[in-house]
Amino acid sequence: MKVWIDQLKQVIGEEQIIVKEAAVERLSKDFYWYSPVLYEELKDKVADCAVQPTTVDALKAVVTFAVEHRIPLTPRGAGTGNYGQAIPLDGGIVLDLTKLDQILQIRDGEVHVQSGLRLGMLEKTLRKEGKELHIYPSTFMKSTVGGFLCGGSGGIGSIRWGNLWDGNVLEVTVMTVEKQPRIFTLKGDAVRDYIHNYGTTGIVIEAVLPIEPKTEWSQHIVSFDTFEQAVTFSDELAHEEAVLKRLVSVCEWPIPSHFQQLKKFLPENKSIVMLETNEQNGDELSHFIQKHKGEVSFSIPASKYHKGLKVSDFTWNHATLWAHKHGENMTYLQARFDTSKVFDQMKAIRDRFGYEVQFHFEYIKINGKVTPASLPVIIYQSKERLYEIIAFFEANGVMINNPHTYYLGFGGYNLRMEEITKLKQENDPYDLLNRGKIPKPEHEELVN
Ligand code: FAD
Repeated sequence: MKVWIDQLKQVIGEEQIIVKEAAVERLSKDFYWYSPVLYEELKDKVADCAVQPTTVDALKAVVTFAVEHRIPLTPRGAGTGNYGQAIPLDGGIVLDLTKLDQILQIRDGEVHVQSGLRLGMLEKTLRKEGKELHIYPSTFMKSTVGGFLCGGSGGIGSIRWGNLWDGNVLEVTVMTVEKQPRIFTLKGDAVRDYIHNYGTTGIVIEAVLPIEPKTEWSQHIVSFDTFEQAVTFSDELAHEEAVLKRLVSVCEWPIPSHFQQLKKFLPENKSIVMLETNEQNGDELSHFIQKHKGEVSFSIPASKYHKGLKVSDFTWNHATLWAHKHGENMTYLQARFDTSKVFDQMKAIRDRFGYEVQFHFEYIKINGKVTPASLPVIIYQSKERLYEIIAFFEANGVMINNPHTYYLGFGGYNLRMEEITKLKQENDPYDLLNRGKIPKPEHEELVN
């Protein structure tokens, strides 16, 4: 055990420090194993200890201590990120922020919260008050506001409201990692540089998120004979204003065959579309389903929304999780197809790789346009083969945000890396915060 841990105990009290090997190991890991490439690179990384500060003052005391002793710090929410973002590369202290979990104020059109609050708890509280969040990830029951802002991108609701960058974070309050940590609040465009930056430039301690009057969402799974039919239906529905949607997710067979809890409802060999739609638009939805020769295989009425089984448990990266449970060599990519030639792009990929690549789309709004984002499931063979698949996607005009690297910026998402690097120097002059995640120029060839 590192000698400084005893001193740290005097700073915030023993009950807020975790030193047990198994617990520290657990808190040093996220869902990085989704990527066999990251698994090999990160499996041995572990912090020296973890802390669970219960107040902002306690957090500040830990940060001050870490700066004084030059100890690396890794912020952490629920650890559900997929790129090893929350894994300490250089030991030190994991800052488990889940005890900073207060809803500070629900106001007209926005909610002010501490960053360790779980999104599921937030959405539940809001719905009781007749309101709801704009967007949240499919891991919302566990994942935190801070983790989503710093490590996520979009999810349920993104078909209507876009990603985190699209006005879905109104304010962030940040603590710096300096001898005397500063705390400041940012609004407007400045917020962007703290979104999806893996917490490399500051610890987000509070956020203000936009909210809406709640809608009564019903959930459905519609089956189609072919994936093309399912995509055509989804595409048209995604653009149809008569049906309000929170989720449109499409998986081709055999991905649904891995959804254990739904097995008895889903017909063999059919592709499925998973939906959250306004219950009041039920007639319009039925009309659409009939027009496209779909068959409703499973439904949950709005009265059971978020009570027990949820359709979203099989969407976004949950689809990959179910596939992985079926066979450990399953991984995934993050891709963006071109709407105007999506069928040609899919055909080229199928002709080349067969069912080694299995299609999965999530409809999201990008720059005001509803677009199929894709999380294709990949049967993993080797790193070389994975990069061959990525190159083929790109050569066919399919954009890739590579989820097989922990380097910030290489996963895509148009981060303003120059601004982030500048903020890093200002806010974390000793490079203690999530050290090693901002790539240096020489890393470029390693990840490409
Ligand atoms: P963590 O994994 O704990 O942290 C994420 C990153 O943020 C890390 O770099 C961490 O250091 C940093 N961080 C955490 N808290 C703070 C803070 N307060 N201040 C500064 N930095 C901080 N993502 C999506 O965007 N949409 C999805 O629909 C989605 N679905 C998923 C489904 C599955 C099954 C899995 C395993 C992952 C999925 N993800 C998805 C990824 C991930 O679950 C989400 O991004 C989630 O919101 C991360 O929250 P977390 O609390 O677990 O963050």
